[in-house]
Amino acid sequence: MTAKLLAYATYLPRYRLARAAIGAALTGAPRGSGARTVAGHDEDAVSMAVAATRALGAGIGDADNLYFATTSPPLLDKSCSLIVHAATGMHGRVFALDLTGLRSGFGALSVAAGTGGVAVLADLRTGRPGSAEESDGGDGAAAFLFGSGDAVAEVIGSVSVPLEVMDAWRAPGTGYALLGEDRLVHHVLARAVREIVAEAGTPVTALVSTLNRRLASSLRASIGAAGGADVQDAHRENTGYCGAADLGLLLAGALDTAKAGDTILVVSAGGGADALLLRVLKDGRRSPDRVGQEIGYHQYLTWRGALGREPARRPARPAVAPAPALRNSAWKYGLAGSQCSACAKVYLPPARVCACGAVDQARPFSVAGLTGTVVTQAADGVSDSPAPPATAALVDFGTTGRLLLELTDVPPAGIADGAEVEMTFRRTYVLDGVPNYFWKARPKR
Ligand SMILES: [Zn+2]
Repeated sequence: MTAKLLAYATYLPRYRLARAAIGAALTGAPRGSGARTVAGHDEDAVSMAVAATRALGAGIGDADNLYFATTSPPLLDKSCSLIVHAATGMHGRVFALDLTGLRSGFGALSVAAGTGGVAVLADLRTGRPGSAEESDGGDGAAAFLFGSGDAVAEVIGSVSVPLEVMDAWRAPGTGYALLGEDRLVHHVLARAVREIVAEAGTPVTALVSTLNRRLASSLRASIGAAGGADVQDAHRENTGYCGAADLGLLLAGALDTAKAGDTILVVSAGGGADALLLRVLKDGRRSPDRVGQEIGYHQYLTWRGALGREPARRPARPAVAPAPALRNSAWKYGLAGSQCSACAKVYLPPARVCACGAVDQARPFSVAGLTGTVVTQAADGVSDSPAPPATAALVDFGTTGRLLLELTDVPPAGIADGAEVEMTFRRTYVLDGVPNYFWKARPKR
């Protein structure tokens, strides 16, 4: 392990589905406590990875590697990490790699700790309607920047106990995981965690990420660490198990409340067990709790494509056009317009010729990280959006120009003209399963 942890950030979607709402819809009995996070209809693992990575701050500009872990890649064959790379403004010689499977979150963290760079873990968990996987699952992302410099924590050890066991698996092309027999899985994973503790010792704080909530809790307790129970319990209650991103969200939660000098053991239990031991170098600064917006079970099912609703009768959208997407990559993925070197005028989208007469004298100017204000807006109640109405807004960036953007994460009361908005990378629509991405505006968090 050579690199230290310089920064970390998490992204949780705005929406929450109360577990009681699932029970009430399916059985008439509102059982279950807490809520799970639900990605918006225009979010997926890539868009959440972009949000978490950008939240790491300017340090990502020096990173040479980008490891993207998920079990729900929106595209196969093509590397989704390349989309994350293009949308986060990292430099042009980054090595970007996709990792998959529930152990990939640990994998991305472990590899980034060795080579330096960004590990971003983002995932959505769905599960069959009525299953524990559905109600205990959650959606979210966590990103970590490793390198040299002023560090938050350092990795001081790593132990893996790989075991070929059918504990959770999913056939390619299917949406739901199949799970092994409880007692067998508990027995095998508990043994693997014991082996890890025998080697790593007992840390100050321990966290265990595994599909089954009760098992995660009992494995954590078996480690004998004083800290971590509150972070892990709150995560399972208010967010849910986030697949490949789960380990990262737990680690971020522990770092938020850690004291310098603490040791944190994060264990990914599944297919054996894998663990990282970290030493905290700086006291944590708890990030403020965000207020979520509750949605109904029918909305969740619709957004997940599990409820075949009558589509809006609108003309079909065009398929993703590879050549213009490549030509306008800086604009489409980086929301980078151009600024004239001669007169400083900004063009959104970029322009080669400036009104001052200068030709090809522009430099890229990204508004992705800027805050704007809503000038005026129009709602389209018969749009093909899965969450109508779709609202288009003219957003003013002060001296830098104006841009027509779709609004997203709109609260039930709407967004007032004059309100501050920030830019967010989202899916605009999906055609034949292929997502198209661009930037939208959302209320400033
Ligand atoms: Zn000019």
